[in-house]
This record gives sequence, C-alpha cells and structure tokens, in this order.
Amino acid sequence: MDIVTRTRADEALLEVSELRTYLHTRTGTARAVDGVSLRVERGESLGLVGESGCGKTMTALSVMALVPSPPGEILPGSSIRFEGEELVGAAEARLRRMRGNEVSMIFQEPMTSLNPVHRVGSQVVEALQLHRGLRGREAAAVAVELLAEVRLPDPEVRFGEYPHQLSGGMRQRVMIAMALSCEPRLLIADEPTTALDVTTQAQILGLLSDLRQRRGMAVLLISHDLGVVAEFCDRVAVMYAGQIVEEGSAQEVFHHPRHPYTQGLLASLPGRRSRGTRLAVIPGVAPSPNLWPHGCRFHPRCAFVMDRCAEQAPDLLPIAGSERTARCWLESPETAAAREDTRA
Ligand code: SF4
Repeated sequence: MDIVTRTRADEALLEVSELRTYLHTRTGTARAVDGVSLRVERGESLGLVGESGCGKTMTALSVMALVPSPPGEILPGSSIRFEGEELVGAAEARLRRMRGNEVSMIFQEPMTSLNPVHRVGSQVVEALQLHRGLRGREAAAVAVELLAEVRLPDPEVRFGEYPHQLSGGMRQRVMIAMALSCEPRLLIADEPTTALDVTTQAQILGLLSDLRQRRGMAVLLISHDLGVVAEFCDRVAVMYAGQIVEEGSAQEVFHHPRHPYTQGLLASLPGRRSRGTRLAVIPGVAPSPNLWPHGCRFHPRCAFVMDRCAEQAPDLLPIAGSERTARCWLESPETAAAREDTRA
C-alpha cells in the first residue's frame, strides 16, 4: 500500500478509523477490535477505558503494529494514520522507525519488560543507543538524566542495580525512562499503574502528567479504571465488546455519563458509594469476542434494554448540545424527543 504523507498543521497526531483487528484461532475468529475510530491530538491525553477483554490493548498493539500475524489480522478498510501518514500496510522498516522514534509504549507489569539479568542502567543505555545512536559516557550520562527526570531516587546508584532490587513503582519509572529515550510524540501507557499501590499509582500518574506538559507529548492511557482516566485525561473513550460506546471530555463523561455501560462502570467505583452500602455491579459477564451479541452488544446486561436493542446495532450517535457521542438507542432523535415530551 502506498504511504500517503500529509503535513497539514490541523491533522490529528493519531487518527484511527474503522480499525478491525481479528484473531483467527482454532476455536473461531475473535473480533477483538471491531470498527474502532479515535483521534489523539498533539499534546493531549486520551483515556481508553473498559473491562478486560474489551479490545483496549489490542487497539494499542494495532497502533504499534505489534499484533502477531498469524493469528492476528488487521482487516482491509482499517486505517491508522500518524501525522497523516498511513501505517496500515507500511513497510516493516517504516514501522520500526515509528516504534523507535515517534511512538512508545509502556505496559502494566514492568518486570516482564525489563531484563532481570541486566542492570537497569545498561537497559536504558541500550535504548538510547538504539533510538538516538548515543554511545559510551554520553549515553550513560543521558541515561542518568532520564532516570532523574522520572524522579527515580538516587539515579546514579539505581543505574547500577538490577530490576529485582527496585520496587514496582521504581521499575515502572525505569520503563517510562526507557520509553522517553526516543523522545516520542505519543506515549501509549497500557494499565501503567494497575500493579501498584494507591500512593505509587498517584505518583506515577502525576509524573506522566508532568512529563506530558513539559515535553508536549500526547498520551493514550489505557485503563479499566474510569476514576484514574478521569483524573489524568482530557478526553475519554469507553470501549465495550470491541467497539467504542461513548466518547467525550473526561469531565462530561465522568460527571454525566450517557451510555448505560459507562453509568455501570462509574456506579461500581468504591468512592462513589457511601460507607456501609453495597457496591453496584454490572449484571452478567462481558461477552466473548468469538460471539458478540446481536444488536446492541450491551443489551444482555443493560437495565434500559428496549425491543429494538436486541435487533438493531446502534451507531455512535451524537449527543445533542455537546461534542459527545454514545452508541445507544436512548440517544436516537426519536427517543430523545419522546424523553423531552415525557418531561414536559
Ligand atoms: Fe441499553 Fe439499548 Fe442503549 Fe444498548 S442500545 S445500551 S441495550 S438502551
């Protein structure tokens, strides 16, 4: 496929359109990502939120061109543009350059990404050699600077230590330092705080927020925790069953969720219940990507289900008076009008 390059200043940093990533396995085809469209603007933070298995990580891996093939396949008609350049179908050398110099990703459990038999300093140095061509003392000095920038205590000492000598929060800081080594314009953080205690989680989110502002870097934050995303992100996209079901500013989605699934996610946050009351749960279980429900994929679990919900799949519908969208028949013009009539 030809690589089309545009340089218009108004172009999104990342624009994903109608992304479909399927996994062909012996038990059938899992439609892990099934028509996802999203934009990340320069310097902004977008949160991608949803339960495990909804397709968040597979979306990120698709952007990074890290979906193994086979069994993975990005279907024709999918588009991933970075600064206007189409990446679906691009040559492997171009994708390596993108991963090394433009987009970085950090994962939930840093121990699985760090090599346990190499000192952390040498791993950061290696990343600097690979991405920026630095060598010797210069690379070591920049590595220590990066470790200091991510607020690792005693960076010169930690430079010579092994991953098992560091706490989980410190290891995540090292991973962030390595991700910054290529000076990315987009950082994808996949559940970066899930394995950490609440205090360390807040510190890492604060660090990411500072780095984003200081470096003008955009962040795509993936999390199952809407509270974390609402605190850190400018905008939020909520995923369910391989699709985006609601999108809008973090403030609006967090304070006035419109999709019943988003409402369920928020109601299940401990902080939202008064002491002594039971936590709300979304009934049922998330469906399997091999067998998404017909019609609205949330209908078997939805408290507001209507007849048409099981028959017809809703598109992402604009919410009147805002820049938000929700994939729910409750937002269709006729249902909204009926709601207004009832109110009147
Ligand atoms: Fe619930 Fe129907 Fe909306 Fe789906 S379309 S979320 S089932 S009300």
